[in-house]
Amino acid sequence: MSDCLFCKFVSEELETEKVYEDEHVLGFKDIYPQAKEHYLFIAKEHTKNINELVTQNPEDIARVYSAISQFTREKGLDQSGFRVVTNLGKYGGQTIFHTHFHVLGGEQLSSFGS
Ligand code: AMP
Ligand code: ZN
Repeated sequence: MSDCLFCKFVSEELETEKVYEDEHVLGFKDIYPQAKEHYLFIAKEHTKNINELVTQNPEDIARVYSAISQFTREKGLDQSGFRVVTNLGKYGGQTIFHTHFHVLGGEQLSSFGS
C-alpha cells in the first residue's frame, strides 16, 4: 500500500533498523521500545491485521513465526524467554495498519492477570 509506513520499509522508500529479512518477512527494531528488546516482524505482503492475514495469506503466518523462531534462537532470546503480541483495532491498541507481531524480551515482562 502506497501510504503504509511498513510497506515503505519493505520497499526501502524509508529506512528502518532491520534485524531480519528473507523473501517474505521483515523484522526491525521498534522505534519506541516497550522492553529492553522490542522488535516488529511483518509479512512483506500488505494486510491490515491478523484476521485479514489469516484469510488472505495464511501461509504468511508460518513464515512470520518461522522468522521469529530463527531470530530469537540466533539472539539467544529463547533462553531467557520472550513474548509475541499482535494488536487488532481500537480496543487492541493497533496504531499501524500493516499486520505486525511485537517480539518483546530482554527483561522480565509482567504477567497477564496475576
Ligand atoms: P501497534 O500499536 O500494535 O499498531 O504497534 C505499532 C508499533 O509501531 C508501535 O510499537 C510503535 O512504537 C512502532 N512504530 C511506529 N513508528 C515506527 C517507526 N518509524 N519505526 C519502527 N517502529 C515504529
Ligand atoms: Zn503495508
